[in-house]
Amino acid sequence: SVLPDISPSRGEIALGEPRSPTVDAARGEPAVKLPISPLEGEMSGRTEGGAVEHSRRPIGFFNVSHATALGIALPYGSMPAEKIIALAQHALALGTSEIRLAPGRALLFLGQPPAANQPLQHTATALGFVTAPTDPRTRIAACPGTPACASGRIATRDIAETIATENADILDFTLHISGCAKGCAHPGPTALAIVGGENGAGLVVNATAKALPAGYRPGYDAARGIGRVAAMIRSARYQGETAAACLTRLGPAGIAEAYRQAQTEKRK
Ligand code: SF4
Repeated sequence: SVLPDISPSRGEIALGEPRSPTVDAARGEPAVKLPISPLEGEMSGRTEGGAVEHSRRPIGFFNVSHATALGIALPYGSMPAEKIIALAQHALALGTSEIRLAPGRALLFLGQPPAANQPLQHTATALGFVTAPTDPRTRIAACPGTPACASGRIATRDIAETIATENADILDFTLHISGCAKGCAHPGPTALAIVGGENGAGLVVNATAKALPAGYRPGYDAARGIGRVAAMIRSARYQGETAAACLTRLGPAGIAEAYRQAQTEKRK
């Protein structure tokens, strides 16, 4: 198969120089075309959280300067230091000579012999890094939330992990999970956002984290509410319809009702 080529262009410094070039993807040219595009109107994220420049994330194998580079990403934009150190040490042992920052909070590993790419990717996967462009975590923007941020009202990363594990099949849109209404991980609107607040985990539909939620659930139980929304999408969507289009068709009231529904069942 032909690998996407993100070789440096004319005039850039060759691989291995201390002041390494930025790959073409960083200048706005998609490194690899992914099957899913961001929804229209969505803004790219910024600082904390998994910002959602889907089409520009160099995750997987790429040709860089006539060699194969391995791109991996940090889930939601961060990883514990010990895991980054472990991966870097393993990469060093396998012959990686350079690690570059890349768009989408990704890292490019360069210089290792071709036979080292698969073992390095396996190690990254085992450590919890994002190693496939289809990883559902690339569809979720999640700030640190509680307990990492004093303003956080919900455990954003735990909720994100549960949703990514249980509902990957419907994540063809950006899901924003925000510890509070500030919305650090994704300032722009998303199809769905879970936002921590005084009333628990609010569900915002097609708006930013600052908008008034259409429904609430207890913060610890937010993932189950999204599970209900996912179940509704699975049963309601037409053949070939994306989950994003299905959500638009169902509308905020129906989505919010599904989100709250699990709570209703619990009380029976
Ligand atoms: S959105 Fe709120 S909880 Fe999340 S990082 Fe920003 S201030 Fe903290």
